[in-house]
Amino acid sequence: MYENPKCRWAAVVWNPWSIPKHAILAWLISKESLNTKVKLLRIGVCDEANCCICDQEDESIDHLFYQCIYSTRLIQAINEKVGVMLPGSRIIDWCKSRRGSKIQRRVQIMVAVAAAYHIWFQRNQARVEGKLDKPDFVAQRI
Ligand SMILES: [Zn+2]
Repeated sequence: MYENPKCRWAAVVWNPWSIPKHAILAWLISKESLNTKVKLLRIGVCDEANCCICDQEDESIDHLFYQCIYSTRLIQAINEKVGVMLPGSRIIDWCKSRRGSKIQRRVQIMVAVAAAYHIWFQRNQARVEGKLDKPDFVAQRI
């Protein structure tokens, strides 16, 4: 089946079961358009690039969603509670590699996109309020 390489993200973003604000964030991630501190530093809006959550690495999309210790713990907590294996790699590639029924794929994408949204929410909360909810608590909300 032909797939337009420019629209690799379409199946994830337009998953009908995802909450629209979660889908929009997935779209921004897939387009690498999220205003991470690495990006803000590059355009001169920010004077440092360290991760708002862990303060250990530069805050890129890869770090924030796939490498940060907080994200890793949150995804582990979701996997334990929901039984949906979330990606340890790029969300679009992971979502497209899912097998199973249409319903199973939609649920997996919905949970993965919700997890990404909550990671970004926690990042913003940490940056603005200096507050970070525990991964188990966030997993419960998802
Ligand atoms: Zn981090």
